Amino acid sequence: MFMKKLFLTLTLMVILFLYFINAEEVYKMKSKIHWMGHDCFKITNDKIIYTDPYQLEKEDKADIILITHSHYDHCSADDVKKIQTADTIIVATEDCKKNLTGTIKVVKPGDKLEVKGIKIEAVPAYNIGKKFHPKENNWVGYIFEVNGERIYLAGDTDYIPEMKTFKVDIALLPVSGTYVMTAEEAIKAALDIKPKIAIPMHYGAIVGSISDAEKFEKELKGKIEVKILKKE
Ligand SMILES: [Zn+2]
Repeated sequence: MFMKKLFLTLTLMVILFLYFINAEEVYKMKSKIHWMGHDCFKITNDKIIYTDPYQLEKEDKADIILITHSHYDHCSADDVKKIQTADTIIVATEDCKKNLTGTIKVVKPGDKLEVKGIKIEAVPAYNIGKKFHPKENNWVGYIFEVNGERIYLAGDTDYIPEMKTFKVDIALLPVSGTYVMTAEEAIKAALDIKPKIAIPMHYGAIVGSISDAEKFEKELKGKIEVKILKKE
């Protein structure tokens, strides 16, 4: 009887130990992701990838620039010039083309391409019940692979059904509301997408504030690891 109790107690302790080890485990991001504010990220491995360059303070040399649509806070010709070289490849939607120069690969939702060894997929990004980003404009978000990690840049989008089908490790999601998802909607989106890490974006520049990002982090605690990046 004593041995049986001891055995059960030990088993329970092992189970609890394993449970807490797992709960404590934090996903170690292999990619280096820098946030330059709004939807602009700089992601580095052997290539330098920028997304939606906007209000950049420093010049740089981008290998690839991903642009989601032609609104001025996403497709900013002045900011592109700060990081563009003769070798830079821009991936953008058709409507951005008129504002830009250099090598531009035009995409629409569903397109897949490989640029400088980086696999890139353009995915839908649109509003539901708001007029700012109509689905028929064929504007995009991107899923691209860096260091074996699939990174999802949502673009200007609401919480859309397609998100359920995305398999990604890191999700960059808007949280400001108004033109895009609110923090509450972004929480639902994150729970659907189930990334290993979610990073809030699209706040602190035009609409939205750090409190949207904090709400996103707080509500997802224990469910999805959220990283609030410091603007660089
Ligand atoms: Zn927009």
